[in-house]
Amino acid sequence: MGRRVFTLSFDDGVRQDARVIELLQKFGLKATFNLNSGLFGACLDLGPAQNHVRHERWRAEEVSGVYAGMEVAAHTCTHPDLKTLSRVRILEEVVGDLLRLSDLVGYEVVGMAYPGGPPNYNGEVVRVIRENTRVCYARGFRSTHRFDLPADFLTWHPTAHLLDPDLDRLLDDFAEAEGDAVCYLWAHSYEFDVHSAWDRAEQIFARLARSGGVCQTNREVFCSFPPRDR
Ligand SMILES: [Zn+2]
Repeated sequence: MGRRVFTLSFDDGVRQDARVIELLQKFGLKATFNLNSGLFGACLDLGPAQNHVRHERWRAEEVSGVYAGMEVAAHTCTHPDLKTLSRVRILEEVVGDLLRLSDLVGYEVVGMAYPGGPPNYNGEVVRVIRENTRVCYARGFRSTHRFDLPADFLTWHPTAHLLDPDLDRLLDDFAEAEGDAVCYLWAHSYEFDVHSAWDRAEQIFARLARSGGVCQTNREVFCSFPPRDR
């Protein structure tokens, strides 16, 4: 009998995360939140194509309270395209974020999600992070529609976006999976505003809670499946 685990993450550290956390807690779930410490307090309107939803980030002093009980992870300081940066600038963006966030939350932040659209990293970015930082896992962008463990946790691609049109079928497959199965779902919480999808989010969380899988943060998944298991 394999281990069936699901893990969730949300990017950018915006105010809608509070509503996600409230819903997660209703079902006894938790998630990982990837924050940009150089952009705390920034606020913008996403424009007409996204229903003028507000993309407003938490302020530094709010972070430890908002994300208590959840995992905080890095997303770089200022959300740049890492592929365009020098080695030193990549390290400033990644390590700077890890250190600031660790200081805010009071534990060592060890994971991240690469910022920006696909492809949001390349071999050089991964090499710089692997050789120079304590990052244990880093999430990419491409939906795999699979439940296997990543061959390399620094290029960990999710199973699907939470609003993937195939999600119900994937969750059916997850419930039937044999052997070790990790279902990794992600989104930005503001997307539930853009698509008026809060009911859908609640439905998915309810389904996951009933799935028979164990809910883990990204970090817990990394720790649950040490290299000898992979
Ligand atoms: Zn982002």
